[in-house]
Amino acid sequence: MTPAIVILSVLFFTSAILCIMMTLAWLHFGRARHISIWAVAYGLGALQWVVNALGVLLEPGNPLPVIAASLVVLGSSALVPVGALQRAGRPVHLPAFIAIGLIFAIWIVLVYTILPNRALQGAVSNLFAVIMMPIAAIAIWPRHRRPNAPELAFIVMLVIFTLYQLALSGSALFIGPDGDRDAIERYRMILGIGLPPVYIGTGIAAVFLIAGDLSESLQQLVTRDGLTGALNRRGLEQAATIAMANARRRGRPFTVVICDIDHFKRINDRFGHAAGDRALISFADNVQAVVREVDMFGRLGGDEFCLLLSDLAPADAGDVVERIRAEVAGISVEDKPDLAFTASFGVAGFDDGDLWFGQILQRADQALYQAKEAGRNRIAFAARPEPTD
Ligand code: GH3
Ligand code: MG
Repeated sequence: MTPAIVILSVLFFTSAILCIMMTLAWLHFGRARHISIWAVAYGLGALQWVVNALGVLLEPGNPLPVIAASLVVLGSSALVPVGALQRAGRPVHLPAFIAIGLIFAIWIVLVYTILPNRALQGAVSNLFAVIMMPIAAIAIWPRHRRPNAPELAFIVMLVIFTLYQLALSGSALFIGPDGDRDAIERYRMILGIGLPPVYIGTGIAAVFLIAGDLSESLQQLVTRDGLTGALNRRGLEQAATIAMANARRRGRPFTVVICDIDHFKRINDRFGHAAGDRALISFADNVQAVVREVDMFGRLGGDEFCLLLSDLAPADAGDVVERIRAEVAGISVEDKPDLAFTASFGVAGFDDGDLWFGQILQRADQALYQAKEAGRNRIAFAARPEPTD
């Protein structure tokens, strides 16, 4: 068996295994479209290694299998950024992909037939990957937050893949139009040593990314409220526990605000439960638009919400809460022009004696009760807790 066949076999089995893994991931993890696209990309990868190997085994001089394999590589490479764009929910400009693919397809056919050129034969499909992989890396980079570990791993592998393909294209150009023997040898060496690890590494990183996405969505399910997308009680408790530990360690203030919509039952009774739901969603959206990105906001249940303000003492939080209170009065709900409401707020600050979130929450709740008692649509501040010794 020649070294070429050994390398082609390794690459075939790697692609086939990754295709099977991606297909299983697609079947069992919510059938996300981008996973099926990547499964097809690896499936095409496996196919092109088979076609390549058949060419080498059956008819070494015949360019047809190599042309066919190179065309399949174009499809396989293009599906990597297409899947990445799908995953990010960004538009996939198919005509642009098809146009670039066609240019490379024509180039492939030309350099193997009418204008035979060994250097360009070696460079062409690698250069296509040099264009496609950075598009995928950019699409994986999240827009509004820092990338998580699986995203970073995949981006790094895509960058390595790009650099490797660039090196391979560069080394192909040294082959010259008629095929310099030493340069071909060097090209094959770079291909044989580099391609299996880079190819396998990128595949593993893609699987890692899919697993990371799954764990992220499970985390969302466990810690987010299904209706408003804000944190749920469990998410709030987790965030508050971290915020309290930070406040204690750094000697910084921390404030908890409970917000409750006034007479929410009447909204349900007058406009219906669905309109009530939309009012809850608008309320959550508006509060989140007013507060800082570091502030945590969640739904305790029903029409009761909670805001965690790090690095702010209750007196300073008053301004923020007043802004929210004023904002709530202006909230409008689609198709229900008469639907307007107000909210009441209870504010409590972290005290060194607070050992768990429930203690601050209870004081904020007592303050909320006072705000309701005093006529609603207002803010009440909790008294500092009594010393316990
Ligand atoms: P108050 O000013 O004292 O807060 O009066 P309220 O009417 O808001 O009183 P309460 O907090 O007891 O009422 C909350 C209502 O919210 C009762 C319940 O039917 C309704 N509710 C709870 N969860 C949901 C929900 O997910 N969607 C809708 N539409 N209504 C809900
Ligand atoms: Mg209420």
